[in-house]
Amino acid sequence: MTRPKLIFSDFDGTLTLGSELGPVFFEITSLAHQAKTPFIIVTGRSVQWSYFTLIHVSCLQYSIAEGGGLWVEKKGPEELETHFLVTADERVKLAEFASALTKKFGFALTADSSGRLTDRALDLSLFHKNPTLQNEVQSFMKEESINFSTSSVHLNFWVGNISKARAMTEIIKQRFPDVSNDELVYFGDSLNDETVFAHFPNTIGVSNISAVWDKLKSHPSLRLMGAENQGPLGVKAQLASLLK
Ligand SMILES: [Mg+2]
Repeated sequence: MTRPKLIFSDFDGTLTLGSELGPVFFEITSLAHQAKTPFIIVTGRSVQWSYFTLIHVSCLQYSIAEGGGLWVEKKGPEELETHFLVTADERVKLAEFASALTKKFGFALTADSSGRLTDRALDLSLFHKNPTLQNEVQSFMKEESINFSTSSVHLNFWVGNISKARAMTEIIKQRFPDVSNDELVYFGDSLNDETVFAHFPNTIGVSNISAVWDKLKSHPSLRLMGAENQGPLGVKAQLASLLK
């Protein structure tokens, strides 16, 4: 692909090595900043996570969180605006379902679910000892018309039309109307990146995507291989070449 005008990236497993946020993350944001190319993180993490990163990483201006349920814009050093992609009714229905779910199964939502506005999450470690429990939970969600997806760490669920691809399309339409879909690049590593792989032409899977490769219905246009391309190492190498 040619030099991208916009860079989008997943966070967990793509900009972190395992769960570790290291110096390479800041090398990546610096590369984008020096090239004057907006770098937008598209994460399943909660909106609170977006507030934190936008305030403390000066070169980041936009962030998509909760799997695409909302996006946040930094309008000044401490001035953040949250844009919702679901309705108030959908948020109420979600809160009611989350309460029914925890009552039925007797487990807790993730600690960060209390700060979530458009989705909720369960820690995947809940299911490590009991894989059939995940099937039971997901069947209950299907019965109740609740949507869900898994990242490398969470089972996220929501009400309404939420996807990473839809939120990216919305940000592009509203803030970057001159950028076409083939002028951006996206990095990802997991199942919750699938809508982006399906919708946008230039998508890159970092090498640890191998863990879910056979489960993906849509694949990235480029698949990186090898330990040297794991997570942020792969992102940095690709950007160093694309932004030259
Ligand atoms: Mg990920």
